[in-house]
Amino acid sequence: MRAIVVSPGVAHSVRLADVPEPAPEEGSVLVDTLALGVCGTDREIIAGLYGEAPAGAPHLVLGHESLGRVRDAPEGSGLAPGDLVVGIVRRPDPEPCPACAAGEWDMCRNGRYTERGIKARHGFGAERFRIEPEFAIRVAPDLGLAAVLMEPTSIVAKAWDHIGRVAARARSAAPQRVLVTGAGPIGLLAAMISVQRGHDTHVFDRSPEGPKPKLTAGIGATYHVGDVREVIERLRPDVIVECTGAVPVIAAALGQTAPAGMVCLLGVGASATPRAIDLGGLNRTLVLDNQVIFGAVNANHLHYEMAAEALAAADRGWLEQLINRRVPLDRMEEAFDNRPDDIKVVVTF
Ligand code: BGC
Repeated sequence: MRAIVVSPGVAHSVRLADVPEPAPEEGSVLVDTLALGVCGTDREIIAGLYGEAPAGAPHLVLGHESLGRVRDAPEGSGLAPGDLVVGIVRRPDPEPCPACAAGEWDMCRNGRYTERGIKARHGFGAERFRIEPEFAIRVAPDLGLAAVLMEPTSIVAKAWDHIGRVAARARSAAPQRVLVTGAGPIGLLAAMISVQRGHDTHVFDRSPEGPKPKLTAGIGATYHVGDVREVIERLRPDVIVECTGAVPVIAAALGQTAPAGMVCLLGVGASATPRAIDLGGLNRTLVLDNQVIFGAVNANHLHYEMAAEALAAADRGWLEQLINRRVPLDRMEEAFDNRPDDIKVVVTF
């Protein structure tokens, strides 16, 4: 069968290869792949900066944002041929640590977790994949191709789960105003959940035109461009969800929320040369204003369930507009170019 493979650590090694059928030890459920979403992590792996092949394997099958149709599932697995499924990305570490033992592999304490298509496990970017039934999420058939947004939505569902827990420190006022920085797929999905939660939602991005302003307006959020410092100063949000991973945006956000506010960091950028930051001043603000800065990555089963609810409650047409390029498998290289108006690019099988 055909698969999108890379040699981790080797820049631009992405290629279509003929690979063996998925190994039975990858899971008892056999799935025909329908679509694969592309994200920044895939581009980092293709650039040779991230990713790890399974032990002893010559390559890594790429892809962690999946959508497929079950071809074969064992009796009692809860799945049947024809079901649409999305695969969970991370697997618990072998020890397992207290978090992984409790099903919170997204909070793994020892870093020995594995991730499909990213870290030491083949991904979903093949014509067929296998998966363990407990790591396959069944999705509503009426979502159509938009179900490929389940994995990125699980990431923001986790972020919102954690934002809710941090906000619960104060038994009184709940956060009201939210600023999302970056109107890529993660940013727009984070804003979508923010609106669903009833927050006054704002989105900052550097693009003055293209699809992002319209998509932001489409969920009832307010779009901002220009000087991010000025925007943050003017809005004084209770919550900033930072999705750019860009150092100037991060620097503008830290310590700049309303009192008792928080910055949730979701973007992974490259490490940058040190820049002057007034840590003493930041510390004073964080302490005297009860502010919190935290990062969030990955998602566990609960977050996929939350994501399924968020997608079910969303406007289907709006979700479909997030997928602005569909690239057939035989031209898959094109899916990894980063074009200015791209939101979510999907490889179709
Ligand atoms: C994936 C996560 C993963 C992270 C780090 C992200 O692109 O969505 O599931 O944990 O990369 O590898």
